Amino acid sequence: MIIIGPQGCGKGTQAKRLSKNFNIPHISTGDIFREIRKEDTLRGRKVKELIDNGMNVPDKITIPLVKEKLSKLKEGYILDGFPRNIEQSKSLEGIDKVIYLKISDKEVVRRIEGRRNCKKCGAIFNITTAPKPKIEGICNKCGSELFQRDDDKPGQIKKRLKQYHNLTAPLIEFYKDILIEIDGSRDIGEVYSEIISKLSL
Ligand SMILES: [Zn+2]
Repeated sequence: MIIIGPQGCGKGTQAKRLSKNFNIPHISTGDIFREIRKEDTLRGRKVKELIDNGMNVPDKITIPLVKEKLSKLKEGYILDGFPRNIEQSKSLEGIDKVIYLKISDKEVVRRIEGRRNCKKCGAIFNITTAPKPKIEGICNKCGSELFQRDDDKPGQIKKRLKQYHNLTAPLIEFYKDILIEIDGSRDIGEVYSEIISKLSL
């Protein structure tokens, strides 16, 4: 199973729930990259450098990493963050379902713009959705100052959205025969219930 949708659509959250409830592994490229970047190897250093500079990891690194991970699994999985383009999707076989969480560009901007990170402990809050900081600009966990990452500022969000529309949106057509489209703009519980009811059809 694959879960796709723009930034901020909640795919990571839904993938974690599905993984827990169906007892199938949640494979996220975010997690794979975080693991690899700690490696003191050529590949590890390259991934670290790209991510630290806010760049995408190229297909020639990403595809083998994901394939290596999937080759160790005996049964099913839920993939999150991959495929990101048609090239990557061609490297996958045996996909049963593709869950597409649809939200508008306006909603993506609204959700991401509200993100605030703690300077000290790294906790993430959201002033428009949840969890909200109890005191404006202050971390609920450690009392340190919150800040907005450059990546989460409107100009950058628009840039990432443009990339999503160019590269990832074509996957919706590519997987149209096994696509399950869900309105991702509602709350987490409602979105999850709709995924479950559509999966069981
Ligand atoms: Zn904190």
